[in-house]
Amino acid sequence: MSLRSDFSIFEKHPELVYLDSTATTQKPRQVINAMQDFIANDNATVHRGVYYLSQAATVRCEDVRKKVKQFINAERVEEIIFVKGATEAINLVAHSYAKDQLTEGDEILITQMEHHANIVPWQQLMPKIKINVCKIDAKGQLDLDDFKAKCGPKTKLVAFTHVSNVLGTINPVKDLVKIVRKQTSAVVLIDGAQAVSHFAVDVQDIDCDFYCFSGHKLYGPTGIGVLYGKYELLCNMQPYQRGGDMIEFVTFDHTTFAKPPARFEAGTPAIIEIIGLGAAIDYITAIGFDYLWTHEQELLAYLMNDINHIEGLTIYGTAQPKLGVISFTLDNVHSHDVGTVMDQDNIAIRVGHHCAQPLMTLLNVAATARISIGCYNTTKDIDKCVNALKKVVEFFR
Ligand code: PMP
Repeated sequence: MSLRSDFSIFEKHPELVYLDSTATTQKPRQVINAMQDFIANDNATVHRGVYYLSQAATVRCEDVRKKVKQFINAERVEEIIFVKGATEAINLVAHSYAKDQLTEGDEILITQMEHHANIVPWQQLMPKIKINVCKIDAKGQLDLDDFKAKCGPKTKLVAFTHVSNVLGTINPVKDLVKIVRKQTSAVVLIDGAQAVSHFAVDVQDIDCDFYCFSGHKLYGPTGIGVLYGKYELLCNMQPYQRGGDMIEFVTFDHTTFAKPPARFEAGTPAIIEIIGLGAAIDYITAIGFDYLWTHEQELLAYLMNDINHIEGLTIYGTAQPKLGVISFTLDNVHSHDVGTVMDQDNIAIRVGHHCAQPLMTLLNVAATARISIGCYNTTKDIDKCVNALKKVVEFFR
């Protein structure tokens, strides 16, 4: 099966080798058409109108909520909150849960492989709250002994990524939650931004308290993402933003708030993007994770086989299993030069710190180049990428 033809961008740019799906995925026609069709034919606001179009739009958005519930196997549809993306989801938890419910001397545990989105929001709580950081080993895997040691009685929130956007490491999230449950009463947030488009996620099986992801890394649009939270926790949380749509009753002096999820969805939601997210979930579900996982792992193995022979190339992150995310440096070549020279051959890869500066410091590099694989990539893409890399090596020799 080749999915490339589902993505119109490759018609406009037939030579494009897109290997930056970790940053954002391309969008299939199915998603573009669903959004366009909604705007052209069915557009109306939700939750407010008594007229047909608005009620139909409301049903469609709420159907997407049900779809997300099923997609990550949440227990209740009310546990699905629409947000802008993973970043907003983590900020919501920092604001509405941590700021409110953690007190002086409490501790938060994160890991050395976190994206800035799962570091910076927690820093607002410092110095009242201490942030501990779990170490990673030379392969880019979490040091489980360090995790256990840092998961103490003062730990009230543990936040870690499901998959590292730099190393490709897939964390053993279920085991990590078990450790937390055994050792502390902390709540667990999992950043699933890099997980949900590659393999099935079951939040009940993982038993996390919060889980989040962004639509745009899931073959859906930007501007929409999901925060999952256990219903009882959500019910005890303050609103994140205040305004229309999240209230029960308002006077000039006082407001009572709606139950979750509406409590956390102030203002007109990203209706068109919600429709797009629903179409993206349908798209992925129709392909199936069996195919996606096998396809991406085959391409990763194919790439690793070739890339390992390139002189002076160092790979960061060799965990097993790992996703198709390969961060690397080339001896004596600045990563930005790698990206720029490869761009001349129409190879789109990411270079920089990947919003993980503390991890870059730990790896002792200013930046890396990163190849990341999506469902539309082919062995031909990998061949072109490896050839371009060889040219870079020649060019800077
Ligand atoms: N966490 C991880 C692991 C990510 O890779 C990203 C995006 N690069 C984010 C969080 C933030 O996602 P967004 O920018 O869509 O909010």
